[in-house]
Amino acid sequence: TLVALPPVVRDVFESVVARNPHEPEFQQAVHEVLESIAPVVEEHPQFAENGILERLVEPERQIMFRVPWIDDAGKLQVNRGYRIQFSSVLGPYKGGLRFHPSVNLSIIKFLGFEQIFKNALTGQGIGGAKGGSDFDPHGRSDAEIMRFCQSFMSELWRHLGEHTDVPAGDIGVGSREIGYLFGTYRKITNRHESGMFTGKGVQWGGAEVRTEATGYGTVFFAQEMLAVHGEAFEGKRVIVSGSGNVAIYAIDKARQLGGLPVTASDSSGYILDEDGVDVALLRQLKEVERARISEYVVHRPRAKFFEGAQPWEVPGEIILPSATQNELEEPAAHALIAGGARVVAEGANMPTTPGAVAAFQHAGVLFAPGKAANAGGVATSALEMSQNAARQRWNFSDSESKLQAIMKDVHDAAFDAAARYGRPGDYVVGANSAGFERVAHAMIAQGV
Ligand code: GLU
Repeated sequence: TLVALPPVVRDVFESVVARNPHEPEFQQAVHEVLESIAPVVEEHPQFAENGILERLVEPERQIMFRVPWIDDAGKLQVNRGYRIQFSSVLGPYKGGLRFHPSVNLSIIKFLGFEQIFKNALTGQGIGGAKGGSDFDPHGRSDAEIMRFCQSFMSELWRHLGEHTDVPAGDIGVGSREIGYLFGTYRKITNRHESGMFTGKGVQWGGAEVRTEATGYGTVFFAQEMLAVHGEAFEGKRVIVSGSGNVAIYAIDKARQLGGLPVTASDSSGYILDEDGVDVALLRQLKEVERARISEYVVHRPRAKFFEGAQPWEVPGEIILPSATQNELEEPAAHALIAGGARVVAEGANMPTTPGAVAAFQHAGVLFAPGKAANAGGVATSALEMSQNAARQRWNFSDSESKLQAIMKDVHDAAFDAAARYGRPGDYVVGANSAGFERVAHAMIAQGV
């Protein structure tokens, strides 16, 4: 149920649907971008003359491969691996790897497409890509994870490199997996090529603040949105979904700024802690013990666990959906609006459905899409690449200041573009237009 597109972009969307018929997430992501950049295309006839849209919606290269591995019971398992190298016009392909049973071509293509504009918005000289596998790391032993990562990399390594394609983590891929993946690449290539992967351990080429960057960056972005209206986090209730790398550090930074994050969730349900979510406990449960979120209430008796539910009925002013795509639907948006929502900043990629976005915007709730609000993770990856190239390691506070400055720039680029195209305060139009302009100009400059 996507709204009709303006004529200048309609044909491109129809061809995307015709050529990618069973890819609803990819179609959804393309639709959102095309809808908001129609005025940009109208104002720049050179974009249509150079076929920018037709080229952008087709990935430069798509890699799909078999990943065979042996589980602890000695049984052969086969998964599918993906790497979609979408655009290298602004820099080497860059984007995370996701290991989750829901992974399919549509999901990796939507993520790779989003990554082009997100990475452009950071201003850091990185192209767009995404990859992963339908492998489910949940409940697997360390040894199984290692064997899977080794098999995955024994094919993918040939397509990577610090000047070619630089992966990082995403859902299901954290520091443990990155270690095994990087180690396999090092062994196969006989090169300790630090800049070919980001999110590495800080003892072996990783950057300070990379772990925290996506969550911190989302909060910094929301802070800028609030600042436009003379407001701050101080004293405001924050509703967060998820309990992975993004959610944990969004909760952490929101608390540091005086906000009161009261929720966290996983696929089994959500917790409500009116005293403010305990970050140390959440980290212990999720990063160390890899436990379910329900364990939280065992340690915090005043908190409550709601099985099989999402946190959208809980009242709060600042909403940070930080779990996964399409997790916040239209009825939830109405519940949040009734609960006093003022600002929504996406920590995850495309967690809000088109109907929910429209509901927020209709109600005057400020809404920032993930490609702007969660750009801090990949921006800090680019800082990691800089440090690797220079054989340097910057300290935590300098790195955090750089992240904060980048998030302000991303905010201002989106805010200014929205105003320029006659949609002040519309961060969807702003982020898509600003990111697209940078990519399109580079594509024209570099020829077909
Ligand atoms: N997976 C993250 C994202 O969605 C980070 C990608 C990266 O650092 O390359 O942007």
